[in-house]
Amino acid sequence: MPRLSTRVRSLKPSATLAIAAKAKALTRQGVPVVNFSLGEPDFETPAPARRAAERAIEAGQTHYAPTIGDPETRAVVAEKLVRENGLRGVTGDHVAISSGAKHSLYLVLHSLLDPRDDAGDVLLPTPSWVSYAPISELAGGRVVELPTTPESDFKISPAQLRAAITPRSRVLMLNTPSNPCGTMYTPDELRALAAVVAEAARTVAPELIIVVDEIYEKIVFGGIEHLSIGSIPEVAERTVTINGLSKAFAMTGWRVGYAACPGEFGLALMRGIDALQGQMTSCIPAFILPAIRAALKECGAETEAMREAFARRARLIYDLASGIPGLRCPRPTGAFYIFPDVSAFFGKTSPGGAAITDSLSFGAALLNEAHVAVVPGVEFGSCGGDHVRVSFACSEETIKAGMGAIARFTASLR
Ligand code: PMP
Ligand code: GLU
Repeated sequence: MPRLSTRVRSLKPSATLAIAAKAKALTRQGVPVVNFSLGEPDFETPAPARRAAERAIEAGQTHYAPTIGDPETRAVVAEKLVRENGLRGVTGDHVAISSGAKHSLYLVLHSLLDPRDDAGDVLLPTPSWVSYAPISELAGGRVVELPTTPESDFKISPAQLRAAITPRSRVLMLNTPSNPCGTMYTPDELRALAAVVAEAARTVAPELIIVVDEIYEKIVFGGIEHLSIGSIPEVAERTVTINGLSKAFAMTGWRVGYAACPGEFGLALMRGIDALQGQMTSCIPAFILPAIRAALKECGAETEAMREAFARRARLIYDLASGIPGLRCPRPTGAFYIFPDVSAFFGKTSPGGAAITDSLSFGAALLNEAHVAVVPGVEFGSCGGDHVRVSFACSEETIKAGMGAIARFTASLR
């Protein structure tokens, strides 16, 4: 019998995609599932982006494009990063466009790490998005979790970071606003973390790089300003900023992500990504490149309207969650997730006879018996084990129906 590689046999499939697929399969079978599992905006892609792609197809832009994007689009991404994020010195040459932020992350980590490298630690604050650890490990990295708690809004402290850095540390992964926690670092907190990285780079960990995923940067509603850590001069040239169009522009299906880093190192990194992508996907579809320019230059009003809708949904779901006895929930400030603690229900039994012992059994019974899909917190790291992730990238009616079902389900546990 032919065999599969160890790499894919040991690879954990994306739990968020798997649970979303299960919820959709149940819906197809006629079970009315409230799908709180997937981090995917329910809005339409803004018209200027759609029109730009349509025009490009009609104009015959249907052939291969330059590997990491054409100069015009890379320059538009760079201008956005300089204008909105304060990334000084970033030009189109410091930008690589790929098939989604997930792919950008894959390319960046594969360009930074080596298999079986003794000095390939990826410092990963947890709970963290389901793909960071598998992608880091595929690239040969060793994941070192930095666990956090609800008391700190799931944020690492400078002291915690300082204590975790060793000569083996190569990458610090940051994600702000956070999936799954729905919280974000303040500018001062990021400045304090940047100072720790800068100091470590001068002493114990000269090769340490920050990889920051800012895909939720525009979905903020808690009064905290989003700061790009790459704008802080002392770490600017050792910060790779990852972003994409999936979330803020409701363009998940278009598969657009990008990575950027200034300076000489940034240029070298882009050459590495160019070589890798050239052997992987060649390029993103050519007719999507004009849509990226349209999204970044012409869709400010649309993204702001979506942000306002997410802010209303955040208030609604937080109020409803806070009214459910036993559920403890930090207030969301960014992204579109709440991450409540459901451990008060562990040790109970559902009406259908399921023993609720952890976030996995809670999530399974909630789906099977109340038809609400959430993601068990343990999927985001062991310190998330008391929690579940509830995505509110859905309508207010769906939020009310789903939270009502969660309230009835939790009240029925004995
Ligand atoms: N980063 C985070 C934190 C996410 O939640 C997602 C959602 N899929 C991604 C990256 C990847 O997004 P995409 O590949 O659709 O750009
Ligand atoms: N990032 C989204 C989520 O966490 C989409 C699914 C995925 O790519 O993991 O639900």
